[in-house]
Amino acid sequence: MILVFFGAPGSGKGTQAHELKKAIKTLSHISTGDLLRQEITSDSAFGRSIKYKIDAGEFITDDIILQLVTDILRKKSKKDIIFDGFPRTLNQAIAFDALLGVENLKVDVVFDFDIDVHELIERISGRYVCQDCGAVYHKKNRKPRIDSVCDQCGGTRFIRRQDDTAQALETRLKIYREQTLPVRDYYKDKGVLKKINASQTAAIVTENIKETLRSAGLMKEGE
Ligand code: AMP
Repeated sequence: MILVFFGAPGSGKGTQAHELKKAIKTLSHISTGDLLRQEITSDSAFGRSIKYKIDAGEFITDDIILQLVTDILRKKSKKDIIFDGFPRTLNQAIAFDALLGVENLKVDVVFDFDIDVHELIERISGRYVCQDCGAVYHKKNRKPRIDSVCDQCGGTRFIRRQDDTAQALETRLKIYREQTLPVRDYYKDKGVLKKINASQTAAIVTENIKETLRSAGLMKEGE
């Protein structure tokens, strides 16, 4: 099962990927943004070469992203995967189909996380993440159950993303409108796009995603 979580920055894709993984144990989560941030944290030469672009909210080239995805897809033995933040350009989407085709796979469902831009700004300005596992929190709406301890992994180190600033967000939203929105039409034409109202609470969004997967025969009742 290949799922794509599609939506603007701050629309809840990462949070929902973590939630869905809890329900479907075979699922793995590939976030190209997380992979790139790991490179930056490890201070590799590659990480250093992309840091300024990520911090400014600009895109990394299609070639680099596609190489990253090709490598990680090859390594996965179980191909039940949520792609989060990929594909993000029409080129990436077309190349992704070719890549999946080689393995007799296809994109099953693309969840289109629909949310108002004002809400995105509110969410992103209060967002922080667990440095160890990437679980996403919000200073008002989504705090860990125990103060300063990650619900997912017990980690105690939290960071704010360097690109969660007003200026970087403006760039990210502009690029999203110009380069990423055409990907939505691409998947709509293929009949795999499912709109999700991402303004609802995280629990309701999770339930809607599960319901869609059950109706598509991709998830069992009770899972
Ligand atoms: P995200 O965590 O998905 O918001 O991604 C953070 C940043 O990583 C983006 O603002 C881009 O700079 C870069 N990035 C992540 N995924 C992609 C992609 N598919 N194509 C180009 N750049 C990406």
